[in-house]
Amino acid sequence: MKELIEGAGKLGIELNARQVKKFELYYRELIEWNRKINLTAITDYSSVQVKHFLDSLTITLALPEEGAERPDCSIVDIGTGAGFPGLPLKILFPQPRLVLIESTTKKITFLHRIIRKLELENIEVLNSRAEEVAHLPLYREQFTLVLSRAVASLPTLVELTLPFCQIGGRFVAQKKGELGREIDEAEKAIATLGGKLDQIKKIELDEFNDVRYLVIIDKIYPTPSKYPRRPGVPRRRPM
Ligand code: SAM
Repeated sequence: MKELIEGAGKLGIELNARQVKKFELYYRELIEWNRKINLTAITDYSSVQVKHFLDSLTITLALPEEGAERPDCSIVDIGTGAGFPGLPLKILFPQPRLVLIESTTKKITFLHRIIRKLELENIEVLNSRAEEVAHLPLYREQFTLVLSRAVASLPTLVELTLPFCQIGGRFVAQKKGELGREIDEAEKAIATLGGKLDQIKKIELDEFNDVRYLVIIDKIYPTPSKYPRRPGVPRRRPM
């Protein structure tokens, strides 16, 4: 896990031996399960460390000052797939409530398995669509930190994510490449859903040979109850 340890160091994170062991086990399980079900196209040891584990940990750059150790911190990861970015963050911060939402049942089987193997606690795994879960009182506007990586373009993504965010909480989207147009197109949706673009943080790590950003959106007003719209609509007809 040399690349991960070094990269995390550059983010100001010193991984302990227990955490490194968990990442090692995560890698091995991911590769083994990937033979049976399609979890990831990234499979070599070095790339998984950088493109899945380290990339997930870059979220720490978008945390408020008290980080994820605030007692009231709660995290939801929407469209988590094989657990990214939620589970690497859980390895780092074991305390906060973490909810993983994923619509593909096969991936849910892997998530249950890996959570047990890594002995991670205080995690709920929901085999459902974000559009449905977001209307349940147990989850609507309940989270201080909402995450989602590689799920949709920003205008669609904010409709799937901002309803989960508490007022005063934030949504952090991980994005690559040219962003200007995507941000412009999402501007109206962000405001309608109760959000406010706080900042776009560029990730500058030699480990990545591309440009990455964290788009940080604060939740300042409640989301109108009609959002998100029915499953599939946010993608078909972005706001
Ligand atoms: N976040 C993971 C990552 O970065 O490796 C997975 C990314 S994968 C490209 C997108 C995932 O989002 C898929 O596993 C898909 O099933 C899930 N997904 C897409 N739309 C969703 C929705 N509306 N609700 C829940 N999950 C969704």
